[in-house]
This record gives sequence, C-alpha cells and structure tokens, in this order.
Amino acid sequence: MYEREQARREAMIIHRACSYCKQTNHNRRSCKVLKEDKNLISKRQQAYRDEFLLAMTSAGFGIGSLVKVPRGSSRLSPPDRALESAWERGTVEMVVDISWHEIDFTLKDTNTTNNHIKRDRRIVKTRIVGLFGYAVDDSSQYNPKQNDRSSLSMAQLVNILEPVFSPEWLDGRATAHEKIWTALLIGPVKTIPAPPAHVPLITSALNRDFNLNPRQRADDWEKRRTPLDDHKWSMVRKSEYEKARLEYHR
Ligand SMILES: [Zn+2]
Repeated sequence: MYEREQARREAMIIHRACSYCKQTNHNRRSCKVLKEDKNLISKRQQAYRDEFLLAMTSAGFGIGSLVKVPRGSSRLSPPDRALESAWERGTVEMVVDISWHEIDFTLKDTNTTNNHIKRDRRIVKTRIVGLFGYAVDDSSQYNPKQNDRSSLSMAQLVNILEPVFSPEWLDGRATAHEKIWTALLIGPVKTIPAPPAHVPLITSALNRDFNLNPRQRADDWEKRRTPLDDHKWSMVRKSEYEKARLEYHR
C-alpha cells in the first residue's frame, strides 16, 4: 500500500509541469531554463547600466547637475506655439539622486511608444533651486516652490540621454510632443559615479517583467516564462527572439 502511494506521488511529481518553462521532468527550483534566463538578463542589465553610465558621462548628467524643466501650459495653444507655451514658466532643478533600481534595459529594448508606465517611470530625484515665469504674487498651492523635492521621468530625459532610449520611441509619434516637455541640461557635472554595489542587477521591475520571482500565490500566468517573441528578449536572447518573431509573423 505504502509503495503504491509512493509510486503514485513520484508519478505526480514527474508529470507536474515546471511553473516557469512548462516542461515536465523538473520543477521551478531546479529549472535550468530559469537559471540561464536569470544569468542572461543580468548580463544584459550590466551592459545597459554601462551604456547608461556612458550616456550620463558624455552628457555631463549626474548628481549635482542643473536642469531646466518646462512647466507651462500648452493646452490652449495651437501646435506651432506648444514649445513656446511649455517654456513660459518652469523650474531649475538640481539632480540629487539617480534611482538605479528603476533603470533597466526594457526602457530601450522594448517599444515604449505605447507604454506610458515605462515612459513615466521616475528615474531621477531632484530638488527645485529656482523658478522662472511665475508671477511674484502668484502663490497658488499647486505651484512648485524653492527647495521642494521633485523628480524626472524617463520621458523628460529624452533630450539629455538619447542613446539609452528605444529607437522606436525616438522616431515615434510621441517624440514631437515629448521633446517639448523634456528637461534641458544647463549645468553639467564632470564626475559621474557608478551605480552603488547594493543595487541588484535584477531589479524588482525586471523580476516582474520576466516573471522570475513570483509571489507564493501568483496565478499560473504570473509564474510563466514570457514568450520569446516579446521585445524584452531582443537583446537577452537575440537569435531565439528573432526566430520566434519570424514564426510569429509567418
Ligand atoms: Zn523549467
């Protein structure tokens, strides 16, 4: 009786598919595909961070640099006057921190043209050091104030850090509008420190994007490997991604 029960359990384990790759001869803990994916994702992330640091260095953008941020209103102005309206007023801000844990290669490798969440990701922390275009007696509670903490999104940095953005984004329809609202570097710095060692290569956003580390009660699809034809694999598993794309479009 006991032996039969044990045989039945073993059979169950053998037939239960791995929650990540869906093959049946192993489970998630011993999944070689998952292990390899993590390694390749770390590698791509390391390369992207280096790229990001290089872009910061050549722009002179880092902690201590000064940027000018447009905060005007273009809602009522005709398209050819949008840029002018955007710059009617704004802030001068000093970069106080780079949020390395928010910076990952999916910002470049995926087509972010239709992805507001990625484009609006706040990746830089700032402090407001000056205002321009605001009336002296206009003390509306919604106006930015000297010394306020603020932040800049990926989209607001498109002019300063162009090389780290996806080409589709730079060429896309969104660009014209977003370039109007982008920050301008007015006070560059010379020294750009590397990301601190304690920021893990596989950030929580990457864990989520690739379903690498699902919570205990996650649904099946939250545990599953992302299909290889997804853009986020494009530089992680280049040849497999290209093959999957071809099959997908056949
Ligand atoms: Zn597996």
